[in-house]
Amino acid sequence: MDRDQAPDITVIGAGIIGISCAVQLQARGLRVAVIDKLAPGDTTSHGNAGVFAVCGCIPVATPGFLWTVPRLLLDPLGPLSLPLNYLPKLAGWGTKFALNTRMERFRHISSALNPLLENATELHLQQAQMAGAEQWAKASPYYYLYKDQAAYEADKLAWDTRRSFGIEYEMLQGEALHSREEAISDQFNLAVALKHHGFSPNPGQLVKALAEHFVRQGGELITGEVVKFAISDGRPDSVITDRGIYPLNKVVIAGGAWSARLAEQLGHKVPLESERGYHVELSDPGVELKAPIMFSAGKLVATPMEGGIRLAGLVEFGGLKADPDYDFCDRLLHHARTLFPGINTRQAIKWMGHRPSVSDSLPVIGQCPRHDNVYYAFGHQHMGLSMAPRTGHIIADLVSRGDCELDLSPYRIDRF
Ligand SMILES: Cc1cc2nc3c(=O)[nH]c(=O)nc-3n(C[C@H](O)[C@H](O)[C@H](O)COP(=O)(O)OP(=O)(O)OC[C@H]3O[C@@H](n4cnc5c(N)ncnc54)[C@H](O)[C@@H]3O)c2cc1C
Repeated sequence: MDRDQAPDITVIGAGIIGISCAVQLQARGLRVAVIDKLAPGDTTSHGNAGVFAVCGCIPVATPGFLWTVPRLLLDPLGPLSLPLNYLPKLAGWGTKFALNTRMERFRHISSALNPLLENATELHLQQAQMAGAEQWAKASPYYYLYKDQAAYEADKLAWDTRRSFGIEYEMLQGEALHSREEAISDQFNLAVALKHHGFSPNPGQLVKALAEHFVRQGGELITGEVVKFAISDGRPDSVITDRGIYPLNKVVIAGGAWSARLAEQLGHKVPLESERGYHVELSDPGVELKAPIMFSAGKLVATPMEGGIRLAGLVEFGGLKADPDYDFCDRLLHHARTLFPGINTRQAIKWMGHRPSVSDSLPVIGQCPRHDNVYYAFGHQHMGLSMAPRTGHIIADLVSRGDCELDLSPYRIDRF
């Protein structure tokens, strides 16, 4: 392809973030190409819990979190795993993460996450409608389930913070809860029902449907792994992939947990780590859920999916290359049996994916300060599905008009 034929902008990565950027850029009349080594939505964006988590402004790094780490690691049913051989590799990221558990950092981070999430459901519904993908994006409540009042009180900081941002919810107790979700054990009688939330009953298919729309509208999908950028006159002017060289005008780096290597070639070192997460999907669960349910104590989400009930959660540090440890999934199944006594866990498909997590829990979004034809959109940690349409709009605004309404300074790539 010669330079005249190069698209206006090339997006690297066809997860929910890259594809959302692509469809929003295209909606502004730009000629867009997307490059990925895999088919759209085949990695992390396939296997998440599917929740449009408007309430997702609470980072894992809450004040006091570090004191709970030893207990979480020692608990055979806990949500955290850190293999000893990975400890040295995690030291730098882990130290930065620890510093972000201070109260003033928590306030800054939650305030910066909130605007990326506040209209998540509305933006997903709009984006899905634009692409004819309505069946993959639904409005619904989202429940946080607690064993008792004391367990709820332990999350007080999170709920006070959400309330301060205007996130709406109601408390449900006893029959009010069980009449809405009959599968829940009568051992659990307290839930927070969040309003204006939603979910995708098949997040991977949502990405594929958006990508199909993108192609129908004239967008180009290129298969290949971007190995490096060719730099000319101080700016990247083409990408070199394992299958060919593609000239660039502008480029968006939306490679999820694999983005740090690409950013580093452009002069930016980002503390990005994979928080490996797992799901188990039960194709014949024997019980029915109407909406996604977060079980706070086990840090897992149960979501009604097209293919059954998906139980998603867990955090394992182990990098991008190690094989999944599917035994870890047994913890999800254990909690599921406690929460939903009638559940059938026999037909289970297990999966692992890579949450792209920056040590301050904030994504990297914005124009590159070194190369003005480069834009970043990665590092959306536990909330990438929820933040995707907003990220797409921000990138489309930046590229098409040179600015956007939101103050992007918390997400700058040179903040580290
Ligand atoms: C268990 C689990 C549950 C979750 N639940 C939720 C939830 O309920 N709600 C929510 O909002 N979020 C959730 N998340 C987080 C969410 O899934 C991620 O934040 C999101 O999928 C990240 O999307 P992405 O497009 O950045 O990355 P990905 O989906 O990983 O896509 C990145 C793409 O870039 C491609 N790529 C990378 N480097 C290159 C290269 N050099 N050349 C070519 N292609 C490249 C990859 O092949 C990949 O396709 C969950 C995550 C997990 C693991």
